[in-house]
Amino acid sequence: MLAFDLLAQLGKNPSLAAAWQRVARLPEDRIALLLELYQNLPSGRTSSALADGLLKNFVDNPAFLEWAVRLVERLSAASLRRFFENLVVREMVEGQRVRQEFLAREGFEAPVTIVLNPTLACNLHCTGCYSYKMPRKGMDYALVRKVLGEARAMGVYLITVSGGEPFIYKHFFRMAEEFSDLQFMTYTNATLIDEELADRIAAVGNVMPAVSVEGFGEETDERRGVGVHDKVLRAMSLLRERGVMFGFSATPTRRNSDVLASDELLDYYLDKGVLFGWMFQYIPVGKDPDLSLMSTPAQREQLRAKTKEWQVTRPLFIGDFWNDGACVGGCLSATRYCYITPEGKVQPCTFVHFYTHDLHEHSLLEVFRSKFFRAIRGRQPYERNLLRPCKIIDAPEVLRELVAECGAQPSYEGAETILEDGEVRAHLDRYAAEWGRIADEVWQGPEYQGGDSVLVPFLGRINANQHFYRMRLDHAARERIEAGGGRPPERSGLAASRTRTK
Ligand code: SF4
Repeated sequence: MLAFDLLAQLGKNPSLAAAWQRVARLPEDRIALLLELYQNLPSGRTSSALADGLLKNFVDNPAFLEWAVRLVERLSAASLRRFFENLVVREMVEGQRVRQEFLAREGFEAPVTIVLNPTLACNLHCTGCYSYKMPRKGMDYALVRKVLGEARAMGVYLITVSGGEPFIYKHFFRMAEEFSDLQFMTYTNATLIDEELADRIAAVGNVMPAVSVEGFGEETDERRGVGVHDKVLRAMSLLRERGVMFGFSATPTRRNSDVLASDELLDYYLDKGVLFGWMFQYIPVGKDPDLSLMSTPAQREQLRAKTKEWQVTRPLFIGDFWNDGACVGGCLSATRYCYITPEGKVQPCTFVHFYTHDLHEHSLLEVFRSKFFRAIRGRQPYERNLLRPCKIIDAPEVLRELVAECGAQPSYEGAETILEDGEVRAHLDRYAAEWGRIADEVWQGPEYQGGDSVLVPFLGRINANQHFYRMRLDHAARERIEAGGGRPPERSGLAASRTRTK
């Protein structure tokens, strides 16, 4: 019934006419597959909310409908089926039910993804990357099994795989095959993707490569090595031919941020077939961070504005890990995700290289219940302005305090540099103040309607107070009470903001 309602309403909307005509021209087997998948959605409130959300997005945002049509046209039947069953049905619908039970039982929100780093080994040596300075031993497969089994029990069906280069990990496909009900977003330099590897990726159907690029060929080869860009293009072509869901991932630095914020570059990769894209600012972590690589606050704002524009004008799912913090209520670390090193240490996020618990001795649930993770949740959001979400670069004193308060250890030798090196500290403090001035102006401006309203991909425009602050503040307060009081986040003015929320 829902499918027919959806199709009927789409057909009536004149602004969607072009995309709608393409829906009508999809091959019959595609339409049949779509209807089969859609009708297999479990009935219930979450499914209805999902259908309503889809419809609203299709109507509000024609680029989103074009993206959905491209998914159906381009993905192989196996990839489309896995995408729908793992991400839509399991992660969004079934996972949501499990997470609601988790919240009722534990008193805090369950993660929505886990970043698993099975190996730090890499075949490249990119400027500014910390991975080559780390131990090379891959993760025990027994630990992979434990992590994925425990994550699934918490309602997590989307696993983010990072590295090193994940396709070097010898158990990668064993993992993807054994956990075929999980979807693996895999960050890769793509240089190892030849016909044979592309065939294997296509065959499992649940691996979505996010191919690292730095810009056009010149920028990519400058940071990653001569010839890498050609290999990237070849990999994209092989993945596209096989109907694999793939996208790009980029690290904006002072050198390439302007290029990454250009329409020309985005359209170049859209033309190569990407269906999603992620931006990850260069963060000066590791033993000898290159502070000059960090993009300037002005460049960060340029990219934020561009990403928001692309979210409604280009047919891809694109997210900026920092600047879209506003779409998810701020920092996700220790809350909606964590990061697991090859040795099993659990960091609150990919970029906070400190830990207190190891999965050889603890369960994932124990880590989320730990003092360190509770203390982090007790401080979130660190700023009322959700464009300043990060305790590393936007509120660096918060990270310093949390690590000291909880006795967190560096995950590897040199990770403590970000807290202890005077030059790095001074740089981050300056950066945070400068970005804060820009971000406050934008947050108070018309785009965010005085900080009350955020445009969220898939959800449309939502009220930030209703959706985020109330939930986050309630959770934060509960964590502080359970932790025996704790220090409220005075710096953020959150106590005052309670009275302002609507
Ligand atoms: S600490 Fe910063 S990098 Fe880590 S999840 Fe939070 S906002 Fe992102």
